[in-house]
Order: sequence, then structure tokens, then C-alpha cells
Amino acid sequence: MLPTPGPRDVLVVVDMQNDFCEGGALAVSGGNALVAPINAVAARFDTVVLTQDWHPAGHSSFASSHAGRDPFTTIEMPYGPQILWPDHCIWDTHGAAFHRDLHIPHTRLVVRKGWDHPVDSYSAFFENDGVTPTGLAGALREWDAERVILCGLALDFCVGWSALDARRLGFSVMLVEPLSAAIDVDGSLAAIRTACDDAGVVRILE
Ligand SMILES: [Zn+2]
Repeated sequence: MLPTPGPRDVLVVVDMQNDFCEGGALAVSGGNALVAPINAVAARFDTVVLTQDWHPAGHSSFASSHAGRDPFTTIEMPYGPQILWPDHCIWDTHGAAFHRDLHIPHTRLVVRKGWDHPVDSYSAFFENDGVTPTGLAGALREWDAERVILCGLALDFCVGWSALDARRLGFSVMLVEPLSAAIDVDGSLAAIRTACDDAGVVRILE
């Protein structure tokens, strides 16, 4: 169970956008059903951050940008392996907008990621090269945040990678599984759970 939030806790709600919910271009099963409970939990936190996947058209993470390649296959990028995705979350489109029922009016910061054409960004903290910061870590430090609580989409990619990076940065981290849903490509869900457990991420299971 999620503990009562304190003043140094920050809730990070990851990628609750149309394209990741049912009916979207890269829909995660169970996405729509998360909106109401996330709204309810977010209301208990003083500080909430939203992340927003935000790509230019023709982004390098799209299969359509690589001749002959299909979505959900992996290619080697200069920064390492990259799964290719269907076109999704193209900036200023309906698909990139937050779910219309997401209602967290006291949101303090929106972090956009994946905006740079040559590199994807799953994590809310670093692009997929593992070194280019999004700025979120700096904000959390300036706010004197101590613990990061994560939920949203998708558990096995953007939520999970964000959790691992938050640990790497020295924060206490909780990943709220009932407020997250997974894509599960080639065992990615089991892999991220193991990685989180090994890294000391506390997975909240109910
Ligand atoms: Zn993306």
C-alpha cells in the first residue's frame, strides 16, 4: 500500500497520453482504467510531475523512419539497442495530448522527452544514451525532494526506466504497479521487475 505522502515526496505520472491508451497508436492495455485512480492518488501529493512523450514527425524511434523495418523489432543505434515503435506522440497532435480525463490541476512540472530526433527517451531523467539529462533531476534537487513515486505508462519501459534512473541518482523510489500498465515486449515486464528489485526500487503491488 502506498504510504501517506510527505512534503519531500514527489509523484511522477508517466506518459498518460492518448497514444498510450486504448484507441491510441501505441496503446497499452489497461491505460484508460488508470486515469481515475491516478487522479485520486495525485490529489494526495503536494508535488506532482507529469511526463509527456513528445516526438517530432519522423523520429528515429519510429519503425517508419527505417526502410524495411517493422515495429517492435530492435535496431542498433549509436547509443545502443533501440526498439522501433509505431509512430506515436508526435508533438502537437491529439495522440500526444494527455488523456482528456487526466485531471491534476496542481501539477508542478511537465517534462517532455523524446523531442530530439536522433535519440529516444524512455526515462523521465535521461535520454536513452544514458547521459543526456531531461532536467527533472535538477528540479527535484532544487525542491529538496527525497522520494520519487512513479506510476503510469508503460510500466516496463518509461515508468521502469525512470525508476531505475531515480535510484541511480540517489532518490528513494517506489513504483506503484496497480497504477501502471505494461506493454511486455519479449519479456520486458519480467526484466524490468528484476532490475527494479536489484536496484532497490520498492514495487508497490496493491
Ligand atoms: Zn516515444
